[in-house]
Amino acid sequence: MKLTDLLDLCFPRYCLVCEKAIFESYERYLCIACYSNLPLNIFPIFGPSPLSRTFWGRCEIQYTGSFLMYQSDSMYSNVFKEIKYRERPDLGKFLGCVYGQRIQHLFPEEIKEIDWLLPVPMTRKKEQSRGYNQAKFIAEGLAKSWSKTMDTTHLLRVKERTSQTRKSKFERWINAQSIYSCAKLPEEIKHVAIIDDVVTTGSTIEGCVEAIRANNTVKISVFSLGFTHI
Ligand SMILES: [Zn+2]
Repeated sequence: MKLTDLLDLCFPRYCLVCEKAIFESYERYLCIACYSNLPLNIFPIFGPSPLSRTFWGRCEIQYTGSFLMYQSDSMYSNVFKEIKYRERPDLGKFLGCVYGQRIQHLFPEEIKEIDWLLPVPMTRKKEQSRGYNQAKFIAEGLAKSWSKTMDTTHLLRVKERTSQTRKSKFERWINAQSIYSCAKLPEEIKHVAIIDDVVTTGSTIEGCVEAIRANNTVKISVFSLGFTHI
């Protein structure tokens, strides 16, 4: 009996989607069946897609891409919950890396144009209380597969969203604009990609785009692990 088999017997590993025990050394996080049936959401990153349409008429985005469909009632939603709430950000890094390899293979010229990856930031207080920012781990996986730099020092989240209900439309707009801030990027950075875990309404990304453009003239792309149709 191999040592790895013995370890599996003593410390069984379970698929994060179907919860069956996994034994094969190539099965990491998911069993091979769940891995092969991942709900892919891969479209050309330069063309119209459900994700790119989310930003039409709101902000100008160069390339958009997301790896998986996110549906809260799907068994696969567990993958996102593990990454976000159950202290498994390493899974985010792993999937970020897998996704990065796939789209680099499909769109090498477009990926080459991107200089820096900027994960959607959390306030320092929230990141400390949760222990990590899941978007940062996903960006790390993408940065690893693309051999690019992830930067977490320019785009910052400066405050939490306050209750919107009793505010006027203008006050709500001001509130959304002041959540993120972005310092001036170095001259040589011409194209950044914002990285998030799941894009739903697109308002988080829109807030980041406006913060970046307030001080910079750069191309902006968006990549996420999951996308939800609403
Ligand atoms: Zn499974």
